Amino acid sequence: MTKTEQLSQLNTKWLAECTCELRKTATQDVTGFGNADARIVFIGEAPGAKEDKEGRPFIGSAGKFLDEMLASIKMKREDIYITNIVKYRPPENRDPSPEEIASCSMWLEEEIKIIDPDLIIFLGRYSMNYFFPKMKISEEHGELSTEKLFGRLRNFLPLYHPAAALYNGSLREVLKADFARIPKILKMIEEQNPCDTHMI
Ligand code: URA
Repeated sequence: MTKTEQLSQLNTKWLAECTCELRKTATQDVTGFGNADARIVFIGEAPGAKEDKEGRPFIGSAGKFLDEMLASIKMKREDIYITNIVKYRPPENRDPSPEEIASCSMWLEEEIKIIDPDLIIFLGRYSMNYFFPKMKISEEHGELSTEKLFGRLRNFLPLYHPAAALYNGSLREVLKADFARIPKILKMIEEQNPCDTHMI
């Protein structure tokens, strides 16, 4: 089975099984989207209004800003896979609660196991703190770390959330500068795995 087929099977299973309370108020689930064979996975927080309406992650203003930053490093959505820690929109875009994160988290974990990325980029503190509860985004943004997750070493890069940076000029510059490090990080990962012929 291809990774795309495995993801489709996974989403069908979780659509039936997810017990998240946010299902009651959301229009629909917003599953991960992009290249199932990507070596780089971005993980955001939760869908907003536009994502809830269209059923796709990061297609509102934060998503447009993300696309601009991807273009600045000569990448496109087709080169990456992007998902959220919570698959349903919280009412009024409030932050997801620990219970809501817990009820969607196995879905995310299984998604990551299928894609098996070399680099996981956290967009904001919610996804970062799910995997690294003690980390502070103000201290760790732009800092690459390497840890064992789901059976092998992977690289992690926390970034400020593009929505936070949209309305804060200084955060915006910090996020752009952190983002600009991604090509060098990918090159370093390729050099660490010279036998790996996958495209990043
Ligand atoms: N913010 C997120 O964290 N995810 C989305 O899909 C959209 C906005």
